[in-house]
Amino acid sequence: MTLLKTDLSGKTALITGASSGIGRGVAKAFAECGAKVVINYPTSAESASANEAAEEIGPSAVTTCANVSVEDEVTSMINFVLGEFGQLDILVNNAGIARSAPVENIPTSDWNDIFSIHVNGTFFCTRAVLNHMYERNSGRIINTASQLAYKGAPGFAHYTAAKGAILSFTRSLALEIGDRNISANCVAPGATMTPILGDVPENILNDIQAGIPRGKLAEVDDIVGSYVFLASDAAGHFRGQCISPNGGDVFL
Ligand code: NAP
Repeated sequence: MTLLKTDLSGKTALITGASSGIGRGVAKAFAECGAKVVINYPTSAESASANEAAEEIGPSAVTTCANVSVEDEVTSMINFVLGEFGQLDILVNNAGIARSAPVENIPTSDWNDIFSIHVNGTFFCTRAVLNHMYERNSGRIINTASQLAYKGAPGFAHYTAAKGAILSFTRSLALEIGDRNISANCVAPGATMTPILGDVPENILNDIQAGIPRGKLAEVDDIVGSYVFLASDAAGHFRGQCISPNGGDVFL
């Protein structure tokens, strides 16, 4: 069997929330496939993690600071990318946060923060790149959902609702894009060892692991291949789909 080697040379990719975890892994993998990568990190954060990610990748990486939930910051970020590289071929909407509380205790501010970053952020970034992609009749949009959008999770109603919204947004977007040479799809990672799980107690992580048929929580490297695939020519016929590297936790 011939294994497909993914070639992203000549492409520019923007990955939101790429100073850490899955986004950082995706940026590294895209760069290894030849892409120039733009590492976004939030305005509220120090630049150190993003700079470290860029240094690890080398000269094909640059960083850009923007809170994806703030419209003007997203506009400036996309203008920066287009000014710097002249083109944007791949947008990965990945930035995210997680909070946990039973529904009756979810503060409105937490509900709004979750929706602002996940849903508004995905919308703002996508809207800001679409006309550019339409003009070039070329592009890939990869949104980050979660396997929890399918199975639900007690304590995470705001998070799972936001991820469900991202799935639905992606499907409608794929229909609007129509027969252009642009695709919109989702990756729905299963539980993955990144800082977003930092506050989850060990006994809960053990319970999650016990429920995964593969018997392990994912590492970032277990997840990034799905993004590389959706960015590749091999995924050209995928439209509005969601692929879920989750160790068998959920069957889509
Ligand atoms: P992570 O390591 O915490 O990474 C999240 C990234 O998003 C960080 O770089 C963070 O920056 C950035 N970010 C947060 N708010 C932002 C904002 N307003 N604007 C721009 N960037 C922002 O977590 P992760 O696990 O890699 O999560 C990446 C995505 O995968 C998220 O959408 C998450 O919901 C999804 N996901 C994760 C899992 C999992 O188990 N890990 C499972 C399913 C889906 P700072 O670190 O500076 O805050």
